[in-house]
Amino acid sequence: MQIPFLDLARQHQALKQEILPLWAEILDSAGFIGGRHVAAFEEEFAALLGAPHCVAVGSGTDALRFILLALGLKAGDEVITVPNTFIAPTEAISQAGGRIVFADIDPRTYTIDPARIDAAITPRTRGIIPVHLYGQPADMDPLGTIAERHGLWLVEDACQAHLAEYKGRKAGTLGRAAAFSFYPGKNLGACGEAGAVTTSDATLAATVRMLRDHGQNKKYYHDIEGYNGRCDALQAAALRVKLKYLPQWTAARQAHAATYQRLLAGCPGLVLPTVAPWASHVFHLFVIQISRRDQVLAALTERGISCGLHYPLPLHLQQVYRHRSLPSGAFPVTEHCAERLLSLPMYPELTSAAIEHVCRNLRDILEAA
Ligand SMILES: *Cc1c(COP(=O)(O)O)cnc(C)c1O
Repeated sequence: MQIPFLDLARQHQALKQEILPLWAEILDSAGFIGGRHVAAFEEEFAALLGAPHCVAVGSGTDALRFILLALGLKAGDEVITVPNTFIAPTEAISQAGGRIVFADIDPRTYTIDPARIDAAITPRTRGIIPVHLYGQPADMDPLGTIAERHGLWLVEDACQAHLAEYKGRKAGTLGRAAAFSFYPGKNLGACGEAGAVTTSDATLAATVRMLRDHGQNKKYYHDIEGYNGRCDALQAAALRVKLKYLPQWTAARQAHAATYQRLLAGCPGLVLPTVAPWASHVFHLFVIQISRRDQVLAALTERGISCGLHYPLPLHLQQVYRHRSLPSGAFPVTEHCAERLLSLPMYPELTSAAIEHVCRNLRDILEAA
């Protein structure tokens, strides 16, 4: 039995009949940029989250970068985020002219640890980017208290957290603004690149609209310098089709996570994901911790089970940030996790038989070790 880490082809087989007629219409009209699907997707996604504004952009990275630019980040302004994440948030901070400051994660939820923020704050701090990692919202209330006390903004990286909830409120509505990614492998994925900004701030939304489109409100009239960061019509049409299925796909991920939790309970030396009491976790990834991770990963691969590492090298130890001289040991929770984390196959179309197969093999490997 071969079990892929992710099976997008299977999802698209079922959706092809719905997506292709919309794409045919776009090909016939040659309306590739903007148009009714982009506007409708923005409305539909905003409505599903309960967010007042949604602006579709070219990627999750664009979404983060445009939010920080719209917030008026200046050279030397500091933004706090975590070292255990994908690089997009720190790219966005630097590319918007800011300076990256890291704060370590909580060892159970893998999201930013509110207790680590105070030590990271300086007079140059402007905001915090909590990453709702693996599909679980960060603990936003204490972050909000800190932010209020120091006059900081909170920008959610919700790129892995479509439909996740914090105390009953949707990720994407919990800070000043939020970034979503629709990279194909995300819980809601385009058939190419796309992303979105959600916010309750109408001015910020309007600025992001300009930033995504060369700073123009009217064609060839530029109020500011912007970027080529639009979401195209083909992606918006595919996203509209997929959006209808997102609630049921999310429920399927949660059911698969519950099956994993049940079948792996009590497995020696294995740490299962913790769902925080405040969270509705949408399991973009199902991440366990084990010792001798690389050996276990190799053994699973040999048995036809594909797993992932999220993330193998913490951001502060990446070559690109070498000049910051952040030593190993600087963020011990992140570093400990980076050696032990293993992401098991997770996607809505996963079958119970496949999960049982993964768990049986994982138990075998751990018991033999
Ligand atoms: C995927 C991802 C991004 C970036 O999204 P893109 O659409 O690939 O640019 C940002 N942050 C996190 C946590 C992600 O997982």
